[in-house]
Amino acid sequence: MDTKANILLIYTGGTIGMIKDFETGTLRNFNFKDLLKHIPELKLLDCTIATTSFKQPIDSSNMNPGYWADIATIIEERYEDFDGFVVLHGSDTMSYTASALSFMLENLSKPVVFTGSQLPIGDLRTDAKENLITSIQIAALREKGHSKIAEVCLYFEYKLYRANRTTKINAEHFEAFASLNYPALIESGVNLVINNEALYRPNRRKKLRVHKAMESNILLVKMFPGIDETTISHLFSYPEIKGLVLETYGSGNVTNEQWFISALKRLIAKGIPVINVTQCSGGSVAMGMYETSIELKRMGVISAKDCTTEAAIAKLMYLLGQKVSPKSFKTIFETSLRGEMI
Ligand code: ASP
Repeated sequence: MDTKANILLIYTGGTIGMIKDFETGTLRNFNFKDLLKHIPELKLLDCTIATTSFKQPIDSSNMNPGYWADIATIIEERYEDFDGFVVLHGSDTMSYTASALSFMLENLSKPVVFTGSQLPIGDLRTDAKENLITSIQIAALREKGHSKIAEVCLYFEYKLYRANRTTKINAEHFEAFASLNYPALIESGVNLVINNEALYRPNRRKKLRVHKAMESNILLVKMFPGIDETTISHLFSYPEIKGLVLETYGSGNVTNEQWFISALKRLIAKGIPVINVTQCSGGSVAMGMYETSIELKRMGVISAKDCTTEAAIAKLMYLLGQKVSPKSFKTIFETSLRGEMI
């Protein structure tokens, strides 16, 4: 018989943990230890909940790979003591952090559920309570003595997604996230409807390995009609550049003017990986479909396929941090490591 699940709540910051200062009208963090005071319903859940918090909770716009490593460390150190982890995080950069954690936590066989909210927990119309309570319930789901979910995911407004497939799409609606290239893992209505086919299947015999080295000397360049040679040559001559993510049009197209193609070739000749990710919210890169992408394919630009920009950035940082050799970089990048691409 399954025993009660042990869940660790990790508070990093963001709106979910904020209350309104009625004198100044601004939002400020409340003491996370008072969580039960704000959500007494948590006591009714059929699992044991422990909490931990960043010493200084942050707005997620201040997130960086150092903080990602802090989250990874908390999970690593307490991995054996808990059946699941719920990370409370600001929604603004949640998809970046959750994507990064999916790569940092190799052979994960327990759930790590990211959640947050659009309105503070102390607000009358808050979405924080539902998001938090259901995230905990999901993290506590068990089957045959194991956690039902065994991957990094993101729960928001009645849907659980694979984290590295998500993007924040709305700054106003409660439905703030979307996963256009991969179905929801769970939909929460009167019941939790689990999409068993879509769940990640870990090899439970393999031990968790945590990788904290992430290379952040990379560039993200979004193409736009009119981007000029001077800008590109200035950006590409950044001496510390270790990798480039190019947000291209449609199925991976860029201008095929010679100055641009040559600038990319120079980077690749220096052994710097260039990743092609589409700026469309859904669909995939397919280099070679149009004249405006065939050159990219020929020169060895790497396809991010149907990855989100957030996942492409996290994967690039991760593989560079792993010191993957330039020779095998393309093959490894184009292989799905954590279900982030087809
Ligand atoms: N600015 C906040 C943050 O990302 C917004 C939120 O929590 O949703 O930290």
